[in-house]
Amino acid sequence: MPELVHTPLEEIDKIYAELRAGFQSGKLKSIAYRKYQILQLGYLIKDNAEQISEALTSDLGRPAFENQFLEIGPCLTDVKNAYSSVEKWAKPEKPPFSINFTPMRAIIYKEAKGVVLVISPFNYPLWLTIGPLVGALAAGNAIVIKPSELTPALDMLLAELIPKYLDSNLVRIVNGSVPESTKLLSLQWDHILYTGGARVGQIVAMAAAKFLTPVTLELGGKSPVIIDPNCDLQMAARRILWGKTVNAGQTCVAPDYILVPRSFQDKFVEALKAAHKSFYPDADGPAARDAYSRIVSPQAYKRLKGLLDGTKGNIVCGGETDENSKFIAPTLVRDVKADDSLMSEEIFGPLLPIVPVEDVDEAIAFINARDHPLALYVFSQDAEFKAKVFKNTQSGAAVANETVIHPGADGLPFGGVGPSGYGAHTGKFTFDTFTHLRSSLDSPSWIDKIIGFRFPPYKASAIKS
Ligand code: NAD
Repeated sequence: MPELVHTPLEEIDKIYAELRAGFQSGKLKSIAYRKYQILQLGYLIKDNAEQISEALTSDLGRPAFENQFLEIGPCLTDVKNAYSSVEKWAKPEKPPFSINFTPMRAIIYKEAKGVVLVISPFNYPLWLTIGPLVGALAAGNAIVIKPSELTPALDMLLAELIPKYLDSNLVRIVNGSVPESTKLLSLQWDHILYTGGARVGQIVAMAAAKFLTPVTLELGGKSPVIIDPNCDLQMAARRILWGKTVNAGQTCVAPDYILVPRSFQDKFVEALKAAHKSFYPDADGPAARDAYSRIVSPQAYKRLKGLLDGTKGNIVCGGETDENSKFIAPTLVRDVKADDSLMSEEIFGPLLPIVPVEDVDEAIAFINARDHPLALYVFSQDAEFKAKVFKNTQSGAAVANETVIHPGADGLPFGGVGPSGYGAHTGKFTFDTFTHLRSSLDSPSWIDKIIGFRFPPYKASAIKS
């Protein structure tokens, strides 16, 4: 793995000043120039897709298929979507007709916020950096991106490519870890979009508060799955296991734990084991080349190993680990209790605890006793069952019979609620996040023939109720 070259701290002020000047230049007021930059970003990814995939594999030990399916493909979709929609998104809007204000030419202008900061995590380091960048550019902002220091190969590649493809007065990358982030957060931004863990989310929100800077926090949490015995069992097992094993479970919306009726646990575990067998048919199982990702860092490996070693549940599949290659096999653990190590924090890895409950009411109560999750999944063929779960819980997203792919669904906002974050992005929602809705009136003189009564001296006869 290459060693990350950090952006010198003293250069960060200069970058910031150049971006402020770039924004002030008004270049991005032109939609055509925004489109040109968005297109360039598309070429950056398309021309260098192979190198990008190699960098992601170097950083995350990830199969090339996952790089393409979960990052490169979605980035290109974001680029195409923004390129073809930006005129529509940026068009001034008229509010609904009002007898009083329509004559004053009421208009909502969609204006850029200014110079914005995007801080991204390690797990989908391309999509969670480029997606926000596309939307921020479409909205006409100048942008600094700060990727995670845990993905040095991609960070260095982006540092090389961004100045080649994009206008350096409008888009810059700062590479580094806590000191560089801290320096960035000491500056005044017009919006910050942060994706990562809640602890750092608090640091970001507190730093932003000093300048009253608006913030979007895309955080994580323990996303539960509720199983109805009346589900398509084989399909449920495959989709849940995929959601937990893709990127080795290092996905913010990965199913974190399963709530299953006690009487159905045996059948459900058998279905998961069958799905596991079909996913990894080679003799080497998930350790086979290009079958499955590795854990990002020795620290993350140790944390996950600690959670696994601490469980009092029953490991029924997987459990193999290798510190050298940061390999942790997809691991199913049944009969897990609420006070288990696997239930103590967001797992963010390939360990899947199965928690038996009596029924759906107990499952709902279990979820409601904890922080609102980023995603909540239910597998059922019964409309009433699904409605009951959705109506009686809160979460960033509520998904039936699917896992993990909803952040990529066109037209759906991606965001949390409560401790899983606030604000939302993807597609037009990213454009909206980085846009100020500027209200405007331009009132003609003749209006005072109608509302001239507003001026003093006030007349009691003008008071109507
Ligand atoms: P992290 O919080 O460790 O790091 C995220 C970013 O914050 C990195 O760029 C890092 O350099 C920076 N950072 C770290 N310490 C900092 C500090 N003290 N001050 C300022 N910046 C600092 O997160 P991670 O481990 O990269 O990602 C895992 C977490 O992200 C999980 O909780 C996961 O659920 C969450 N996540 C959420 C989403 C979402 O869209 N909601 C997506 C992916 C990941």
